[in-house]
Amino acid sequence: MTAMTSTGTTGRPLLNRRLAEFGTTIFAEMSALAVRTGAINLGQGFPDTDGPEEVREAAVRALRDGRGNQYPPGPGIPELRTAITDHQLTRYDLSYDPDREVLVTAGATEAIAASLLALVEPGDEVIALEPYYDSYAASIALAGGTRVPVTLRPHTDTTTGTHSFRLDLDELRAAVTDRTRLLLLNTPHNPTGTVLTRTELSAIAELAVARDLLVVTDEVYEHLVFDGEHLPLASFPGMRDRTVTISSAGKTFSFTGWKVGWVTASPELVTAVRTAKQYLTYVSAGPFQYAVAEALHLPASYFSHARDDLRTKRDILADGLTQAGFEVFRPQGTYFITTDIAALDLGEKDGLAFCRALPERCGVVAVPNAVFYDDPEAGRTQVRFAFCKRADVLREAASRLQRW
Ligand code: PMP
Ligand code: GLN
Repeated sequence: MTAMTSTGTTGRPLLNRRLAEFGTTIFAEMSALAVRTGAINLGQGFPDTDGPEEVREAAVRALRDGRGNQYPPGPGIPELRTAITDHQLTRYDLSYDPDREVLVTAGATEAIAASLLALVEPGDEVIALEPYYDSYAASIALAGGTRVPVTLRPHTDTTTGTHSFRLDLDELRAAVTDRTRLLLLNTPHNPTGTVLTRTELSAIAELAVARDLLVVTDEVYEHLVFDGEHLPLASFPGMRDRTVTISSAGKTFSFTGWKVGWVTASPELVTAVRTAKQYLTYVSAGPFQYAVAEALHLPASYFSHARDDLRTKRDILADGLTQAGFEVFRPQGTYFITTDIAALDLGEKDGLAFCRALPERCGVVAVPNAVFYDDPEAGRTQVRFAFCKRADVLREAASRLQRW
């Protein structure tokens, strides 16, 4: 048999042209580097400690009791759908019908892909905040859409002196054209840690209504907010029926491997997203759905304790990075810190080269933000560190970076 190459036997590329610009994700590359070098992995965002024992036990019980070991219902098990609607109601005063307005997915990743595949026609423009989470670009491409980035820009607050990335609302308004189909938002935002404010979200809502846009909002870090508050865009005037809200259990409960995510939206939007989703995985994670239903009913103290614990970790790593000479953008939410390496006295100004060298040179893995930009120059000197790790691991990483 003739060996297949990346151009196949006919000379035509094997990979379809919609995916031609995509290779291995940066998370896979950097985690493999961490395993190979034994370095501390502050690259890919996953906790080094599992979530609550009772939630893990709930999954074990479901498995043992034979709940979810066969295909669960297409929209998700009723217990989880009800837990999701209870959560949206008690936290945000958003009322959804668990039978018609919820869809359980294989993580937020599938929810994002299914939403874009369902709602975007080839040629439609999709606006995404840049730097953007890597699956957005791939999902827009799979749907045949055209990605239109609106860049979050570094900003220094003149009264507090804090550095953060902010959205330029005029730039967002100017990016909307007659071909714009939807806005793909993410707040709290990975990788910058920006949490969109009430004023910003109001302006986005007004724009979506005025230009009759759909919005897909990725809120997987909704519970990881240290400064300010998380406000779902669906709660703003005119937004409930044009917004697909996405979240997931991975970040909130520290079980990223379970891949239980969900969508809440109007019946029409949920039906559209489900139409695409049913041909991707159909269903997934049966026993874990039971466990996540229980997790969503944990007392409020679980959520506040997890957030406060992470805030302490943010401060350990942010202070350590500052002492090591990095310019630090202290995140308001998520478990990532974006830094700028331009200020370091290293001579190295390229984030990708810096991250490839970092494990060998000082035993730490990080992620270059350039891969989250259409124009890699825009994020060339930015490097992201994850702080969802034990405090002693973060201190050790900081001291290695300081010694370098
Ligand atoms: N959206 C954002 C912004 C993320 O950072 C991630 C990664 N964890 C996801 C979606 C994917 O979530 P899940 O693991 O639930 O698919
Ligand atoms: N969301 C995680 C991050 O940003 C990675 C998830 C993945 O590996 N796809 O680090």
